[in-house]
Amino acid sequence: MGRTRYLADTVLTCDEAETVHAPGAIDVEDGRICWVGAAAEAPEAEGAVVCDVGGLVMPGLVNAHCHTPMTLVRGAGDGLPLWRWLTEAMWPREGRMTPDDVWWGMTLGSAEMLRAGVTTSCEMYLHEEPVVEAVRASGARLVMTPGVVSALHPEASVEGRAQDLEDFHARYHDPAGRITVGVAPHSAYDLGIGRVVELAELARRLDMLLHIHIAETTQESTELEVAHGASVVRVLADHGVFEGSVLAAHCVWVDDDDIRLLAGHDVAVAHCPLSNMKLGSGVAPLARMLEAGVTVALGTDGPASNDTLDLWEEVKIAPLLARATGLDATLVGPSEVLAMATRLGGRAVGLGDVGCLAPGWAADFQRIDLDHHAFVPVTDPSELLAHVAWSGTDRRVSDVWVAGEQVVHDGVVLRVDEEQARAEVQQRAERLAAG
Ligand SMILES: [Zn+2]
Repeated sequence: MGRTRYLADTVLTCDEAETVHAPGAIDVEDGRICWVGAAAEAPEAEGAVVCDVGGLVMPGLVNAHCHTPMTLVRGAGDGLPLWRWLTEAMWPREGRMTPDDVWWGMTLGSAEMLRAGVTTSCEMYLHEEPVVEAVRASGARLVMTPGVVSALHPEASVEGRAQDLEDFHARYHDPAGRITVGVAPHSAYDLGIGRVVELAELARRLDMLLHIHIAETTQESTELEVAHGASVVRVLADHGVFEGSVLAAHCVWVDDDDIRLLAGHDVAVAHCPLSNMKLGSGVAPLARMLEAGVTVALGTDGPASNDTLDLWEEVKIAPLLARATGLDATLVGPSEVLAMATRLGGRAVGLGDVGCLAPGWAADFQRIDLDHHAFVPVTDPSELLAHVAWSGTDRRVSDVWVAGEQVVHDGVVLRVDEEQARAEVQQRAERLAAG
């Protein structure tokens, strides 16, 4: 693949300096960015293909916590309290899912994310092989963290599951490509500390991401906390679970000591405000976590508790919630939340070269159509940044590239038959609901 130069009216790099080039240029070669800057300063690039895409180009978003095949159960059990929602609506259907169901659920969700400019997702789910195969087919980037849950992987089978995970890692982990592999113990309250510790050791031995739910609801860890006389975050830290690369989903019910521990161990947090709101779980202390230096990324969580995979909604809601609950309009600004959705998201899911438009980084980017009322007026470049954060939404995303390959063109996902994916999920969901 030779060099391609993309010219845009505005290039939002999402680098640490929040650099904006207007008009800007991005040179891409072999799936990576080799040059970014003002269009007028672009170097001679003989033989390069030049694409003038106009609009605004920025990094693809990173959905740091999801269970995307749950497109198959989207809408089921709405309004039930958490335990009844899980035991009456989710688990019976999920128990009936075949690998083919999961492939189609993931395919539809992957297409939905790509259309929203979400180029990477970090997935916690069972049936890891069809999830990987579906994303290979759609062209997105994936961090696959196969789930371990007590109901399906009881104590007796722990060694077998650990061996499966190791084999899966050997087969699919490909940091130079688009698929990387981690491991996802569901939670300490579900598996118990001992099994989480074992899986954390496995993750460290294979140098892979440990992805776990922590402190999503107020009651879930009570029993464990009473038994250990400490918060679940403290218990996990004391047992060495945070020694490797760790991504903690939710962290709604954490106090200042917990936040200090998360920051001190460089545990990244996937903040999922819409899921937490829909399931009545609470509001995570986003501003305090950011202030303490925790790496916070954004996640949609599963589409059954959101109900979309459009991470632009989290981009808008996360700062609004932080400001409304903190009674402070200075909290979580547009550039800060865009960094959470891009560069910090990449870091949180173990991809240090994803989420920023800079030389050497992955060529994952999206084009946003600025030809819309919500982007007028712009009297200062910072206003454009604010418009993107507050009014981005998937409907403004027109084109998307992953590793330099165009995967969405003019709102159409190129590698997925979206109509067929919708029909397959519809028909399979009817079967899963019927039991
Ligand atoms: Zn989750």
